This record gives sequence, structure tokens and C-alpha cells, in this order.
Amino acid sequence: MKKILLFLSVLLATPAIAENPIALAIHGGAGTITKAKLTDEKEAQYRAKLSESLNAGYLVLKNGGTSEDAVIVAIQIMEDSPLFNAGVGAVFTWEEEHELDASIMRGHDKQAGAVAGVKRTKSPIAAAQLVMNNSVHVMLSGDGADTFAGENGLEMVDNSIFDTERRKQALEKVKKKLIKNDHAMSLDADTVDYKFGTVGAVALDKQGNLAAGTSTGGMTAKRWGRIGDSPIIGAGTWADNQSCAVSATGHGEYFIRHQVAADICSRVKYTGKSIEQAGNEVIHQVLSPQAGSGGVIILDPKGNISMPFNSEGMYRASIDANGKVTVAIFGKE
Ligand code: ASP
Repeated sequence: MKKILLFLSVLLATPAIAENPIALAIHGGAGTITKAKLTDEKEAQYRAKLSESLNAGYLVLKNGGTSEDAVIVAIQIMEDSPLFNAGVGAVFTWEEEHELDASIMRGHDKQAGAVAGVKRTKSPIAAAQLVMNNSVHVMLSGDGADTFAGENGLEMVDNSIFDTERRKQALEKVKKKLIKNDHAMSLDADTVDYKFGTVGAVALDKQGNLAAGTSTGGMTAKRWGRIGDSPIIGAGTWADNQSCAVSATGHGEYFIRHQVAADICSRVKYTGKSIEQAGNEVIHQVLSPQAGSGGVIILDPKGNISMPFNSEGMYRASIDANGKVTVAIFGKE
């Protein structure tokens, strides 16, 4: 008894070791998302799904899990939801199929994995994680990537399980416009809007490690094996414990050319700018003049979060180091 009391008094006298901050941010795509375009019911569905994904990822971090696992958990909830352009609900290609892209990166050892153009893997983000952890490669593509995922135990499905009526209609609409414009790449904002909706997450765990991940169906009516920024490390996804973690969404070609995710973190690393300054610069001063539309979620090792975008809206949610919760869709919220 005496010993127990002594132990307890020592325990109580020991100052509590301050836990490292944890934080998480997620996105469900950027685009011409306005209040007028969303019914109250749809808006509520998006907010509920964003909250579900955020809370599930945050719980992993709270329980001492890794940022890598939190990113996977948060993204898989959105991949399984028909609301987002990733997994179920992915946009259709010109050939009326789905080709899915995903990538993941860890901030402490700069390990990364990606898949592009997979058709049979149920969770593309899990396939990206598998490439990172179970192969010597960073990126696998097409049928080979599906085979690798299947051989390593991931669930394989028929491509049609990703079908949704809404995306089918979007394909028909985009196809008509593309044919009318003689396949010109410049489409009006309305049509472009149907092309986006990627999902992503950035996390900071109790060990102080950052991770970032992104998963997408790409752009509606894409052809010829087109691959966007989402599976490209440095363009759509980046994580470095010395600067920040980023996941992007938007018109992929611009994000690739401007190496958006890595550029933001490089500005933080080499110029000492905050993630807010660096993110705003790249989105508003680099992308906007080029008419490259979209946004990013950014997280730094202290648990600060910034979510800049130049489109009308971006599905987004976060819990920062102070526990501040944000769930937002439109520009001014
Ligand atoms: N960035 C994706 C791509 O270009 C699309 C998106 O974010 O919605 O494939």
C-alpha cells in the first residue's frame, strides 16, 4: 500500500509531458461550387461526409497512430462515397470507363508511392501505399499496377462498381461540348466544373511526422491514358517534415507544369515563409494568371493549416493544432 501511495505521489508530482500537436486537413475537390448549384440536401450530404472522414482520420492521430494511417483512413471514406471523384463516383473516361490515380508521401523519410490509371483496384490510395511500402518503386501504372495490388492482397473489383448516374450524365455533356468545339481544350467554367472532385488529406501525428495523400478519377472524358497531377509526387502530393505537407486539386496540367505541391513547400523551406504566404503566392500569383484553377490543403509541422484556392469553392475540412474544427465548401465561409 505504502509503495502504491509513493508511486502515485511521484506520478502526480511529475509535470505532464506536453504532447506533440496533431492536426489533419482534407479536401474533396475544387471547382465552380456555389450555393446556387447545390441543393440544401446535397450540401448537407457533403458536409456530413467531410466530417465523417475528418473525424475518422483524427481519431487515428488521437490514438497515437501515424500520419500515414490517418491519411489512408480519411481518404478511403471519401473513395467509398459516390459524392467525390475518387473510387466510387469517379468520373468517366472517353471510353466510358474509370482510370484511377493516387499517391502518398511521408514527411520524415521522403518515401512515396503512386499508381496511375488503375481500373480494378478498389482503393487506389491503398495501392499507392503498397507501392511505397512493398516495392522498390515510386510509381506503377495501368494493368501492371492493378496486378501488383491484387498480388499483394488488395481487393479487386469490376470497373463498373465505380459508376454513378451523375458522372455518366456529366460525361455525355462534356462529350457533346468537346465534339462541338472540335476537341478544343478550352471549355466554359460550367463544363470544366464537371471534371473535378479529387480527394486528399494531410496529417501531422504525435511523433511530429507529416504525410500527404491524394486520390482521383482524373478529368471527365480524359483519353489516351491522360494522367493528371494527383499521382505525381511534387505536383499533386508532397510531404517533408522540414517544411510542409500538401495535397492538391484542380486542373492537373497546370499543377504539373508549376510543380505546385513541392513549390509551396520549397518556398517555406528556403525562404522561411509561412504556409499561408507560400500557398497564396503559388495559387494566386502563379496559377491564377495562367487560368489554372484549383486549390490545395497545406499543413506544417506545428499543426498550422492553410487551404487556399482560386476556384469558387473547395470541399474542405480540418482540425488544427489548437483543436479548431472547420468544415467548409464555398468561397466565403
Ligand atoms: N487534379 C485532378 C486531375 O487533373 C482533377 C481534380 O483535382 O479534380 O486529374
